[in-house]
Amino acid sequence: MSGFPTDDAGWRAKLTPLQFHVLREAGTERAFTGEYWNHEGSGTYACAGCGTELFASSDKFHSGCGWPSFTQAVEAGTVTEHADHTHGMIRTEVRCATCGSHLGHVFPDGPPPLGTRYCINSVCLTFTPA
Ligand code: FE
Repeated sequence: MSGFPTDDAGWRAKLTPLQFHVLREAGTERAFTGEYWNHEGSGTYACAGCGTELFASSDKFHSGCGWPSFTQAVEAGTVTEHADHTHGMIRTEVRCATCGSHLGHVFPDGPPPLGTRYCINSVCLTFTPA
């Protein structure tokens, strides 16, 4: 799958209301409610907005935070990082580098050796088994 909408009407037609809120309005799904926070299995997680492969199951770990968590993206440059000062916090937002959709945030409290936790909303992802 490739290609993605270029305006809000197109995104609304493509996405569910929750997906639109999270991907296009930088929203957050409720913790422990998504399809993948506790998901097991070998495969890849792609962007729900454009189909680009973003994360690998081999980099997924149990963070306990209620959202799927990864130590890194599948490739450098696959996601972009942006300063986010909303909601009274200083965080680093993560977006899909291809379609610009919001994915979640990255925090410096992941497991060694990388020490990073990409905290990603389930609704932003589609899983394909290996
Ligand atoms: Fe995308």
